[in-house]
Amino acid sequence: MTTPNIPNIPLQLAGRPTAGGFMVPWITARTPDGRYRFGAVDLDRQNRALTDGLCQICGAQLGARIVFAMRDSDLRLLVSPEPGMHPVCAAYSATACPMLAGRMGHYRTTSLAGQLADLGVLPQGDPASLRAGAPAEPWQLVWVTGYRPFTNPLTDQLAALLLPEQILRVRPIGTTSSPNAGTEAAPE
Ligand SMILES: [Zn+2]
Repeated sequence: MTTPNIPNIPLQLAGRPTAGGFMVPWITARTPDGRYRFGAVDLDRQNRALTDGLCQICGAQLGARIVFAMRDSDLRLLVSPEPGMHPVCAAYSATACPMLAGRMGHYRTTSLAGQLADLGVLPQGDPASLRAGAPAEPWQLVWVTGYRPFTNPLTDQLAALLLPEQILRVRPIGTTSSPNAGTEAAPE
């Protein structure tokens, strides 16, 4: 057994529930018997976060700077299927989330969509499990000043629409080959 690298939880998130040393994101789904399902979202909370401008990690109101974790394909459309985060919450998530930190080469190959639908939850950011088994795409952290919630006609799911003038900067995460990786500190 290898011991996973468990990052320190920021002070701002100290009151949040944890599982196995990792802070549990606010939108993380739970099984009927109360266990957390990392990688699956509570659709109700996800939609509330998108609509009310809440952070998907801590559930609190977002501020003047919002960070989205976006795949390249979503960034091209300026549409994030997942809610925004506080900068500090995004920094923690980028370190702690296996997918975002680039520790997982591929998405899980078995589709849990039907099972999760019965539980009232959906696979995170990928309701149709279209990406099951596909190589994981690069992720970017995108700093913005705001966004507009809208129903994505391609997925019929609530999503965040970004405007080009709202984007402050974009930084790749989970990569060590980027010339810019690690040279900048995240803005607070
Ligand atoms: Zn937060």
